[in-house]
Amino acid sequence: MKHGKRLLMGMLLLTIFLVNLAAPASAYSYGGYKWNANYVVPKIDSSVPSSWTTAIKAGATAWNNAGAAFTFKWITSLANNKVYCASAGDTYLGQSTPTRDGNYNIGYKTCFNTDYSWSTASGGESGKWDVQSVATHEFGHWLTLYDLYDSTDSEKTMYEWTASNEIKKRTLDSDDINGIKHIYP
Ligand SMILES: [Zn+2]
Repeated sequence: MKHGKRLLMGMLLLTIFLVNLAAPASAYSYGGYKWNANYVVPKIDSSVPSSWTTAIKAGATAWNNAGAAFTFKWITSLANNKVYCASAGDTYLGQSTPTRDGNYNIGYKTCFNTDYSWSTASGGESGKWDVQSVATHEFGHWLTLYDLYDSTDSEKTMYEWTASNEIKKRTLDSDDINGIKHIYP
């Protein structure tokens, strides 16, 4: 997930590619990959402030409550899946990177960029980025939903761009829900 509205050429080309992939009647973008199970067990790395735990788990809960046959479980975790914090410069707010075996995900890692100011305040916080909104978006990638770039998709959790103090992506749009239900019916 990124901030602002900058459009680099590569991003533009990627947008054109993804828009072509997305069926017009269903506004989600599915990567074609999935877990070879109906659940995944993330680990919250020690680099993540403990005050973020509730917000990160709430991001996963939004997808757990979508009515699809898939669950994020917080049991003793497998090492492949983690949420962590690291400095990544002026790039992304959050980024999720898969490990795959064929068409199956076998691991996912989400990085929260510590070069930005973050908030876990229930109503958001001026000038800061909402941990729960970004967590919800990034967990969408774990499912493997792709980013949406069209401005008509701006209300959806899987929209690529967010603004500081924006908390609306904590809540899934009906298209986000249709996406996870499509992958895990
Ligand atoms: Zn994204």
